[in-house]
Amino acid sequence: ERARDILETVKERDETRLGVEAMELLDAYGIETPTGDIVDDPADALDVAERIDGDVVMKIVSPDILHKSDIGGVKVGVENEEVYDAYEDLITRAKNYQPDANILGVQVQEMVNLDDGVETIVGMNRDPQFGPLMMFGLGGIFVEILEDTTFRVAPVSEAEAEDMTKEIDAAPMLRGARGNDPVDIGGITETIQRLSQLVTDFPAILELDINPLVALPDGVKAVDVRLTVD
Ligand code: ADP
Ligand code: MG
Repeated sequence: ERARDILETVKERDETRLGVEAMELLDAYGIETPTGDIVDDPADALDVAERIDGDVVMKIVSPDILHKSDIGGVKVGVENEEVYDAYEDLITRAKNYQPDANILGVQVQEMVNLDDGVETIVGMNRDPQFGPLMMFGLGGIFVEILEDTTFRVAPVSEAEAEDMTKEIDAAPMLRGARGNDPVDIGGITETIQRLSQLVTDFPAILELDINPLVALPDGVKAVDVRLTVD
């Protein structure tokens, strides 16, 4: 119901790319996201940062900027004292990149501990022949280069989702390689299934990517999401 409202709002605004609402959509389907908010001035950014325990991550939010890190639009490990400058810097970088970019603001997020986790990707693309194709793989900013992914047609069963986590080349990384703790495989399979349900419920979602879905020993977190609606 909440998901329907979110998608309606976006449709009325005639936007095809969800920005701010994407995280809420995941939330509505029980997929955990980092605490945080999207703000449009530096004082509010500091408010959010102060409510979060520890350093934060700050990111530019613009429907015109798809790969934020490519333009220096993601700052990891920002201390409270640095929030103001970081805010201005992110806006400046976005404007330098594209002067007429529609900048919605800056996202301030809880920092997820990547040392204990593995960056994965969970996505969906609509294939003209097969319909909604769910994708799982090794995530992060090098996905395109590594191309370690596997696919299933949605809706995906629990067994299928679990198979997906076993099929990628990086599967041993999820199950505790080099003395690392194994990550929460159940959390990954549940996320694949929940996302598969979301795109089955809403054919208007044309494509969707959670990248990264950070898989930790005790859970998973959807740190970045991008989707296109028709
Ligand atoms: P984009 O994919 O647009 O470049 P992301 O939000 O995915 O932007 O951020 C890029 C990278 O920054 C992620 O792959 C991850 O390594 C790191 N990162 C982003 N958000 C967080 C976070 N909340 N905690 C820890 N690392 C993060
Ligand atoms: Mg990303």
